[in-house]
Amino acid sequence: MSTLDSLSLTAIPAEDEALRAPVREFLARAMQDVPAHVRARSWSGYDPAFSRELARRGWVGLTLPKEYGGGGRSAYARFVLVEELLNFGAPVGAHWIADRQSAPLILKYGTEAQKRFHIPPVCRGESFFCIGMSEPNAGSDLAGVKTRATRNDAGWLLNGQKIWTTNAHHCHFMIALVRTSGSTEDRHKGLSQVIVDLKLPGVTIRPIEDLTGESHFCEVFFDNVQLAPDALIGEEGRGWEQVTSELAFERSGPERLYSSIVLFDEWLAFVRTQAGRTPESARLAGRVMAQLAPLRAMSIAVTSKLARGESPLVEAALVKDIGTGVEQFIPAAIADDLYRRGSHEVPLELLHTLNYVTQVAPTYSLRGGTRDILRGVIARGLGLR
Ligand SMILES: Cc1cc2nc3c(=O)[nH]c(=O)nc-3n(C[C@H](O)[C@H](O)[C@H](O)COP(=O)(O)OP(=O)(O)OC[C@H]3O[C@@H](n4cnc5c(N)ncnc54)[C@H](O)[C@@H]3O)c2cc1C
Repeated sequence: MSTLDSLSLTAIPAEDEALRAPVREFLARAMQDVPAHVRARSWSGYDPAFSRELARRGWVGLTLPKEYGGGGRSAYARFVLVEELLNFGAPVGAHWIADRQSAPLILKYGTEAQKRFHIPPVCRGESFFCIGMSEPNAGSDLAGVKTRATRNDAGWLLNGQKIWTTNAHHCHFMIALVRTSGSTEDRHKGLSQVIVDLKLPGVTIRPIEDLTGESHFCEVFFDNVQLAPDALIGEEGRGWEQVTSELAFERSGPERLYSSIVLFDEWLAFVRTQAGRTPESARLAGRVMAQLAPLRAMSIAVTSKLARGESPLVEAALVKDIGTGVEQFIPAAIADDLYRRGSHEVPLELLHTLNYVTQVAPTYSLRGGTRDILRGVIARGLGLR
């Protein structure tokens, strides 16, 4: 039970909760004319100008130290900010990964020069990062990565391929997990992380079109890409430990329970009208809220571990596994609810939003580690593996 003991009910401190009002006021204005089916993209929505506007207000790099241009605020403040951004469906995809995990990783493992070079532009909303973990034959089995960085006189020579890299075609840098010694049989040994400038010669980025017709992730090829010596982040051979710590940042946020929230709100607005209200829909609304409320409390409890500087790997896996289940339940249950009605009664924008969310919902339990892999992490936390 130690995994559950560590998730004690926690209140967001008043000084951090106070951030909610100004963020909400800004978003109510900024998002007022954006239709729900566009807002439903949320942290997949890409809008660099919006990211820069948030940064101008100090809302990018909120938890990063002030000396590197960050806000110096706590993990609770970031929880409040992120929760509001997601609830409004703000297009935060441009800076999301840099803010959530790349800059914190550089802060934790980078040299002073790397911190001074990379973190301030992230906080200004000018430098975007992507995650170079998955490869064609190394997704769940991440230790099987084959992309290799070989040391040479000029630094590191990079060869190989990454896949499913979110926003690679829009990003400036990738933090890639690569093999720097040994072979795939050595598993976790011999892996390292390198920062790759995506403008370097030998980098080819090919967007992949998904079911919605959009291209949000990419294949990235490295053909004799010459990296400088300081491309290595952290220690050579410690990549597995670093990537595990990065995944705790990736999985711990409220984005793992709010991916369908814009759809849920749009449907609730319909259910609140006389035409939309049925006994079944009221019961469904209660059922969803009854699942979201404890999940939110668990997510705040995970945040309290981040605030204490701990790495909530198992707890984050637990919240992500249950959270993505609810995120996927919402579009399926709303589709069933609307199916029972005459189609002329249902607002077109609600159907449009449902259509989009239904198409992307299967990805919720794949991105950031599949359901099976998270359950393996939880089993290990329970001492069962
Ligand atoms: C929208 C989206 C965005 C993404 N963005 C990124 C990104 O930015 N950067 C990045 O590096 N990757 C990204 N990914 C890739 C994602 O991390 C992988 O898809 C995921 O880790 C699964 O790997 P895979 O696709 O190779 O599937 P596989 O690993 O081949 O898994 C296939 C199935 O087998 C199951 N399985 C595999 N191994 C086991 C096991 N040991 N026990 C039980 N079941 C198992 C899996 O759970 C899954 O159901 C993204 C994926 C999506 C969908």
